[in-house]
Amino acid sequence: MDGILVENLCKYYSNSSGEKFCALQTVNLRIASGEFVSLVGESGCGKSTLARILIGAERPDSGKFLLDGEDTTTWTYHQWRLRRHKLQAVFQDAAGTLNPCLSAYKNVEIALASLTKLSRSQRHDRILELMERTNMREELLEVPVRQLSGGEQRRLALLRALSINPSYLVLDEVISGLDLISSHSVLSLLEQYHKELGCACLFITHDRDSAYRVSDRIIEMRQGSMILEGSRKGG
Ligand code: ADP
Ligand code: MG
Repeated sequence: MDGILVENLCKYYSNSSGEKFCALQTVNLRIASGEFVSLVGESGCGKSTLARILIGAERPDSGKFLLDGEDTTTWTYHQWRLRRHKLQAVFQDAAGTLNPCLSAYKNVEIALASLTKLSRSQRHDRILELMERTNMREELLEVPVRQLSGGEQRRLALLRALSINPSYLVLDEVISGLDLISSHSVLSLLEQYHKELGCACLFITHDRDSAYRVSDRIIEMRQGSMILEGSRKGG
């Protein structure tokens, strides 16, 4: 069955005194193809842990995550890489996923060349189109990523993720720390992109107003558990 299906997911960490605690406690979640779901909750409740599991950066201690019906639990790094074209993620610390020494253009171009079948000129066109849609000046493409501001790096990471045309997009605090205009333009871009291409999004934020603005459904987490779920349309 298509979509993201998380069943009884648990993740434990050890705290600084070596005691185990539960960061995710029997989490269940389903995101259908094309759905826009927001995940809200206070800092430390486990949102990023869930995001990291959804992109294969961490393994759960128990439970399952099925992606389009395939059980990811035992996937190797290589198996995850083969699905990168369908699932992309952007994190608050975008710098961590970009190559700081390469130009902005090269960062996106490398991802497009390895994850899509686009020709060189199609890749070029797509990059320029997305630069315009993310309100980024074209000159920035030649600048090494380390010289871009934090907000520009975040928008570039988002641009790179969108450029792949993934079926699923995990967005972890992508607007936090951005000024009002930048966060407004990122939200508008996501709304448009979702409408045009029907990509399913998991939009993780602590900003409820933004969550209400963009999503079909909102889920609230507290201390590692999903505690509430509501739909924007249903009230
Ligand atoms: P959120 O994204 O909702 O702020 P996180 O998922 O980042 O929350 O963290 C959930 C809890 O797990 C927090 O208490 C955090 O300190 C802890 N945690 C996250 N990653 C690790 C780790 N690698 N080792 C130990 N504790 C961690
Ligand atoms: Mg987080």
